[in-house]
Amino acid sequence: MNKAGVPGKPQNSSAASGDDIPVALRDAPEAAPKVYLQPLVLVIGGVVGFVLLAGISGFLFFATAPKNTANSQPTPASSAPASNAESSNSVNTQNNNDTVLGHLAYSEAPESELAAVSADGRIKMRKAAAEKFQAMVQAARSAGVILVPISGFRSVKEQEQLFFAVGAQRNQTPAQRAALSAPPGHSEHHTGYATDIGDGATPATNLQPDFEKTKAYQWLEANAARFGFEMSFPKDNPQGVSYEPWHWRFVGDRDSLEMFYKARNLKPAKIP
Ligand SMILES: [Zn+2]
Repeated sequence: MNKAGVPGKPQNSSAASGDDIPVALRDAPEAAPKVYLQPLVLVIGGVVGFVLLAGISGFLFFATAPKNTANSQPTPASSAPASNAESSNSVNTQNNNDTVLGHLAYSEAPESELAAVSADGRIKMRKAAAEKFQAMVQAARSAGVILVPISGFRSVKEQEQLFFAVGAQRNQTPAQRAALSAPPGHSEHHTGYATDIGDGATPATNLQPDFEKTKAYQWLEANAARFGFEMSFPKDNPQGVSYEPWHWRFVGDRDSLEMFYKARNLKPAKIP
């Protein structure tokens, strides 16, 4: 999951839109000059207000929440290129059923375990994952497909910024934000095993659901498993997280497999 946007990068979700509607509806019933009319006006105003509020919440629900367990969702999150790699060093196999708004808790990769996957060295993954990722990039290239790492390891602190600051900027409640971005401590990115992948030939599809139409995605779908990678949030994923065709995680060694699968026996996430 990714998650959270490059500041300024358009997200495809419509979550931000509906929040200022209700104000306009409240003018009507005020200041009725004739006293005996007030109860009637209040009743009508109450009914109208209730209906409108119900309508708005319904709209927000559909606009922001992954449909419970059953549907794909527009992009949850986009990711910022992970730059700094400051990290705490929790032990790497803490697994539990601790979820926040549908997202599982994961431990953060120690910095000493990270290796670069981008040419400039800014994007990193855990060594085992980085090695396989590089091999995957080579294999794709020889098939004429350019896989570009957009984001890899992201510290819990960076995720905190993405979750709260971007959420505030977009006037999103935590529940609305969580449909698009993992709460800090609950992103696969800080495990060092997750990466957001773009197609070098069509950068406009970066972090967009349209990425699924690219050659890169098609190549990944056909070949990623040979390198130990899988898509974390396919359509209808049991966590109820938005569909993210660009977000892949390494599950090709014991530590990564346990990291993601020991915590899996959870109920389907219910996101409001
Ligand atoms: Zn991601």
